[in-house]
Amino acid sequence: MSDTIKIAYLYEDLMNTYGDSGDVKILCFLLKEKGYDTQVDNISLDMKFNAFDYDFLFFGGGQDFEQSVIAGDLRRHRETIKDYIEDDKPMLCICGGYQFLGKYYETSGGKTIQGLDILPLHTIFKADSRMIGDTEYKTEWGTVKAFENHSGRTYFDDKKKLKPFGVMVQGYGNNPDDKQEGMRYKNTIGSYSHGPILKNENVAKAIADKIITSHKERLAQKN
Ligand code: GLN
Repeated sequence: MSDTIKIAYLYEDLMNTYGDSGDVKILCFLLKEKGYDTQVDNISLDMKFNAFDYDFLFFGGGQDFEQSVIAGDLRRHRETIKDYIEDDKPMLCICGGYQFLGKYYETSGGKTIQGLDILPLHTIFKADSRMIGDTEYKTEWGTVKAFENHSGRTYFDDKKKLKPFGVMVQGYGNNPDDKQEGMRYKNTIGSYSHGPILKNENVAKAIADKIITSHKERLAQKN
């Protein structure tokens, strides 16, 4: 059905901490209001996946254990996700999903989990530094209020290429040093915000609009 928007939820069964699946539910609700049906596919372990079959990719947060379980499997999809991001298509990655876009993530247990190494960022651990609590920050779409709970500290390796998603008013965001929350590159957003983040209508509506544009482009390319 041509008016069905297709969403890929990467490892929905494993990466869905602190209500992140609510982000996808909110988007489906907003898209329904605009007249679109939605299909959400859980892309889990061992499944085939072509990012260009979709109008939107979502990657939620996860515990260190689940992150270590999926890391190897996820590598199979590196090229298609990289090409999708470079092609300006919309993607939202939360916490563990955001960490996976970078080079690596050091866990509090002393393990290093390899990331997709698509974007120039990395995530490290320092003792006694779990970042938990309410957050508030300013973005180009206005104020965002959310919740964070992570041990990883994310740093950009190329500050020209990556822009922060927001500037902190309250909480930590990427790390305790930069006063910045998340990352924007083309139409990909990474964020440490749970809650879910898309309870912030300003961000949800902006992403829903991007998904509709992406859907129209995909249909136009097919025909
Ligand atoms: N396990 C990661 C960390 O603690 C991500 C946490 C999350 O996704 N909520 O930094």
